[in-house]
Amino acid sequence: MTQDIHLADIPVRYQPDVCIIGGGAAGVSAAIAAARCGLSVLIIERYGFCGGASVAGLSGTICGLFSSGKNIQQIVFGFADEFYKALIRRNGVTAPVPFGKTVLVPHDAFSWKRTADDLLQLHNCQVLYHTQFLQASLNESGNVSSLLLKGMDGFFLVNPRFVIDASGDAELVYSIGTATYYGKNGNVQTPTMIFKMGNVDMASFSRVDPDSINRKVAQAHHSGKYKLPRHHVYLFPLPHSGEVLCNMTKITYPDGRVPIGTNSEDMSFAEMDGRRQAEEYARFLTDEIDGFEQAYLNDTGCQVGIRQTRSIEGIHKLSNEDVLQAKKYKDAICLSSWPIELHGADRLQIHYLDNDYYTIPFESLVPIGATNYMVAGRCLSAEHEALASARVTAQCFGMGYAAGAAAALSLQEKLPVKNISGSAVAKWMKSKKLKNAYEQ
Ligand SMILES: Cc1cc2nc3c(=O)[nH]c(=O)nc-3n(C[C@H](O)[C@H](O)[C@H](O)COP(=O)(O)OP(=O)(O)OC[C@H]3O[C@@H](n4cnc5c(N)ncnc54)[C@H](O)[C@@H]3O)c2cc1C
Repeated sequence: MTQDIHLADIPVRYQPDVCIIGGGAAGVSAAIAAARCGLSVLIIERYGFCGGASVAGLSGTICGLFSSGKNIQQIVFGFADEFYKALIRRNGVTAPVPFGKTVLVPHDAFSWKRTADDLLQLHNCQVLYHTQFLQASLNESGNVSSLLLKGMDGFFLVNPRFVIDASGDAELVYSIGTATYYGKNGNVQTPTMIFKMGNVDMASFSRVDPDSINRKVAQAHHSGKYKLPRHHVYLFPLPHSGEVLCNMTKITYPDGRVPIGTNSEDMSFAEMDGRRQAEEYARFLTDEIDGFEQAYLNDTGCQVGIRQTRSIEGIHKLSNEDVLQAKKYKDAICLSSWPIELHGADRLQIHYLDNDYYTIPFESLVPIGATNYMVAGRCLSAEHEALASARVTAQCFGMGYAAGAAAALSLQEKLPVKNISGSAVAKWMKSKKLKNAYEQ
């Protein structure tokens, strides 16, 4: 489609130091770090708000801030902590709630959007909502020279000095033909349509054992009274009284195939099937679970939650061994104790890192051969199972923040990002007084 557009006729509207594609956790943190390094920042987002999967997909909790195992404590700080504290100040989070051997922090979507807006405006980032990245042009040196975007008022170009692809889907990297891959031999985790229930009697609900809900879901499904394809479900109280976040659905085609998150036909099926399932699970909750008798389905996310699409072939691929053996790289830019939480088409697998953590090397964000572009967030280079741990919000914040700093370092040193090391980024962050993911 875009090949028919004559680029010469399209106006160049912005020439920022750095353009960030996508306003999810990774994109917002990348924008703030780059601005704090003195760069002019343009961040573009196809929706009218930031938050990505956390907000548009209503994933609704911050995972990855805390350790797992005994003596659970917060171990991830830096920008993730800054954002968490800002949500606390807005009364936008609950206290941490148990999740297996660790804890997570439920948040409300509105507070997330407002916190991001405030931070971006405070740092003079130019924000373009309702703007879609379409494709990029490369110059003879292999640098991304131009981005073709579609805004509310038509097509325009952006000529940035550096680009951070925080689209979740590696949109930029894919568009310029740099290598990406899709899951493990094409297999990806299943999508989920998350929904909220309102008017829940929280006192009654708080006495319900979560395992008993899982058992009841399975029994209800097998009885034939309901169609509930996922039996291990998550229900989290939200900050506002009477609201519960329901991460319960699992979307596959009848033959078990997982819809492709970058294909419109598959996504249309996933959206419709997700809403249908949300209604069915809500019927189950109101009929069968204490506290939900008078509750109602108070909407879904504005899009189905997509856990996995394209990943980049990076200089370092975060391996399953890196995660399982809790490897700690000297050059790492963030750490994680979040389990491998793999939502497969057949079952959910969870593997905890008891009392330990692994690190994500900077090079996992750098596509092989990258010049003036890199990624941040869930499209990092990672094996299928490793990604099922590294993709959560606190780590996406950490990756984004490092990417924003790396953009500044690459521009100052006039070095392609492929020639920059994680230790140089960490040193640079210290010199700029950017708190990295390790520092309190
Ligand atoms: C069902 C589900 C449940 C989850 N549960 C949790 C949870 O409880 N806790 C947790 O911490 N994590 C959870 N996660 C994971 C987490 O939400 C995401 O992995 C994380 O938010 C990804 O952040 P990101 O910034 O990399 O990408 P995203 O959040 O996906 O952000 C990418 C942004 O880029 C925008 N974009 C994409 N393409 C374009 C384009 N071409 N032009 C313009 N904009 C574009 C998108 O609109 C989006 O805003 C869950 C994920 C899913 C799917």
